[in-house]
Amino acid sequence: MSAVLPVYRRSDIAISRGEGVYLFSEDNDCYLDFAAGIAVNSLGHCHPHVVAALKSQADKLWHCSNMYQLDQLDQFAQRLTDACFADKVFFTNSGAEAVECGLKILRKYHDFNKNPERYRVITMEGGFHGRSFACISAGGNEVARDGYGPLLDGFDRVEFNNLAAVESAVTPETAAILVEPVQGEGGIREATPEFLQGLRKIADRYGLLLFIDEVQCGMGRTGSLFAYEQAGITPDIVSSAKGIGNGFPLGACLMTQKVANCMSTGTHGSTYGSNPLAMAVGNAVLDIMLAGGFFQHVAKTGALLKKELEKIVHEFPSLFSEVRGRGLILGVKVRQGYGIENANHILVGKLREEGLLTSAAQDNMIRITPPLIIGQEHILEATAIMRKTFSDIKWN
Ligand SMILES: *Cc1c(COP(=O)(O)O)cnc(C)c1O
Repeated sequence: MSAVLPVYRRSDIAISRGEGVYLFSEDNDCYLDFAAGIAVNSLGHCHPHVVAALKSQADKLWHCSNMYQLDQLDQFAQRLTDACFADKVFFTNSGAEAVECGLKILRKYHDFNKNPERYRVITMEGGFHGRSFACISAGGNEVARDGYGPLLDGFDRVEFNNLAAVESAVTPETAAILVEPVQGEGGIREATPEFLQGLRKIADRYGLLLFIDEVQCGMGRTGSLFAYEQAGITPDIVSSAKGIGNGFPLGACLMTQKVANCMSTGTHGSTYGSNPLAMAVGNAVLDIMLAGGFFQHVAKTGALLKKELEKIVHEFPSLFSEVRGRGLILGVKVRQGYGIENANHILVGKLREEGLLTSAAQDNMIRITPPLIIGQEHILEATAIMRKTFSDIKWN
């Protein structure tokens, strides 16, 4: 019996090493990694440029507290905000902390602007925002919430992609709208561009902040630095994490100057947030992502992978009903109707046995989030493993 708290479904394989798009077990079995630690290893495992940056920083300075100036921090903050809508950023160690930071700031913003009665946030069914009390209160996942009550007050959940539902949920107490442009845990469900544009209009009409959670779908995964860009909107707050550190614990809460005006010395903080190691890694990840052609590569390989997955759905119509997502955040929906619960988990397990790593998401999805550096050869290797695996499946 392991001493580890059993909150994760863990397979038997023990991973000891990673290189590019591949993971290796202690027995030296090789796995093609199309999970990437759930959309984390954006540049693949042990990317040489990122490893070099981390090693070089490790020889210089690990931690010194935010009480001092740190070049790496100012540089990373400037480059990241220059590349998107934001004027200011707060760095964290995880996605939940980045979302939590945004949830605190959206209340502070209205308090600062003499509307302290505005504290409620409209959130989406199927949304996932992390595991802190505020994050599970905001999220739509019952299992994540169950037994932890009383939860934090102030979240009004409405149907995803339903603008009328959002507008009718607005009250004089509403402070903000929180949405993922592509729901990851919720099952690779995309917000339509019209929905995101409509949210911006509603936010403007009622004086609300638009808070976009890009912890999973951001940092290049949909084929642009952030997914909101593709809807042509400007958010007020964006949370980022996962792919931003390529596996080093790092998150960011980005915001406009208008929002940042409410924050001053002592109003928020984090001991480890923006530590030198994380900043060195973040800068190294940006070096690669902001070099020309990176996002185009993601869009192109994503479109190719989606086309190949659509062929597979077509070849195995009794197993699958559709492919969802864009860029390299994709999902294949497993059909119900065999009386088998969690069929997606079973198929993720069978793919793993054949050497392909994916992950399961809500709504019976096989989630496919490979490193953003995959090439056509990896797509063909993955789809060959899928065909072999699915040909052998006989429910019953
Ligand atoms: C994973 C995730 C989080 C939480 O990030 P952690 O690093 O696990 O705290 C928040 N929001 C979204 C959309 C996520 O996918």
